[in-house]
Amino acid sequence: MTFHLLVLPGDGIGPEVIAQARRVLDWFATRRGLAIEIEDGLIGGASHDRHGSFLTEQTKARAQAADAVLIGAEGGPKWARIRAGSGPESRSGLIRLRRELDVYANLRPIRCFDALAGDSPLKAEVIRGVDFTIVRELTGGVYFGEPRGIEELPDGTRRAVDTQVYTTPEIERIARVAFELARGRAGRLHSVEKANVMKTGVLWRQEVERLHRAEYSDVALENVLADNCAMQLIRNPRQFDVIVTDNLFGDLLSDGAAMIAGSLGMLPSASLGAPLGAPGAEDRRKAIYEPVHGSAPDIAGRGLANPLGAILSVAMMLRHSLNREAEAALLEGAVEAALGNGLRTADIAPAGAPPGAPTVGTQTMGDGVLAALEAATQ
Ligand code: NAD
Repeated sequence: MTFHLLVLPGDGIGPEVIAQARRVLDWFATRRGLAIEIEDGLIGGASHDRHGSFLTEQTKARAQAADAVLIGAEGGPKWARIRAGSGPESRSGLIRLRRELDVYANLRPIRCFDALAGDSPLKAEVIRGVDFTIVRELTGGVYFGEPRGIEELPDGTRRAVDTQVYTTPEIERIARVAFELARGRAGRLHSVEKANVMKTGVLWRQEVERLHRAEYSDVALENVLADNCAMQLIRNPRQFDVIVTDNLFGDLLSDGAAMIAGSLGMLPSASLGAPLGAPGAEDRRKAIYEPVHGSAPDIAGRGLANPLGAILSVAMMLRHSLNREAEAALLEGAVEAALGNGLRTADIAPAGAPPGAPTVGTQTMGDGVLAALEAATQ
């Protein structure tokens, strides 16, 4: 059966890294018989420039109809003023699409590739061998809670409100994804909130503990406060197997954890909807794949971006949407080999390397991954 993929490169470095991801997809199509049909579309600023909307109804419908969506990044200073406005049209296209597809489970693997362990600003002995996954709740919490907005007060000052809100079903369904994932790995789950100061944290902890007692007592569960978790990620990241947390904490903690992998440019993600057979599930599991990073306006258009987060997102797509574990592992192995061959984009240049130390651009890193794929399948 042909797999229908909608590709939305977006803004800034989005199109640059997605171009390399597409070369990898083409390789799997021609060399490994992957039956895939790719459609292109617009999201974010690119869509606003053309259609006056960060996410059009047509793109939404195409995303609903696709088997998966692959996204680069969206946003940038050019559209910042529109985004700062009020009303639904000021909202990020990506955030709206995540909600539209109800892809509530955002999987962010944090892996320290051996070749990079010695190059990080963190000590090699602390990060070598790290391999855990952050499961971030993606369609609830403070990014969506109402009321939200900025209002003028009678005295001329202004007041801004965001609302952090979670319900039992929202917590239960994300916790279930995390427990299932932990069960298939080392069997350890850290649940992260701030139950000491936030009511949503209290409910989060109670619901996760209830589900643990009822269905997942074989998994070792530990509750951690989010601030402590930030510290533990740097102190001893090897203690983690799976972390489950809310939308905001997941956003922050994964960017911090990116330095264990070497750079934000190294992190892939999969945003998944209800699994088949679950309440609310459709005939296939909705999925968006995207690198964790943003549009990086500071380096956009210069061919400098690290494409590995986007390429590793393709590996996640092979694993989670296409059920092709062997191909996913093949691609991850090719990334590891390219790094092992010494290829470094500027963001993963060895810590302390002098300015101007030899690094490669986006295209050459893509070449390196393709060469490693060829070499691995000779
Ligand atoms: P960013 O992730 O774009 O960049 C942060 C830093 O990391 C920058 O110094 C950038 O150069 C570097 N970086 C990021 N990806 C890289 C890569 N692949 N290779 C090399 N270096 C890389 O975050 P930001 O600067 O805070 O935000 C820029 C814009 O992106 C904003 O408009 C923001 O709203 C948007 N954003 C979008 C997403 C998304 O589309 N998923 C995520 C975060 C931010």
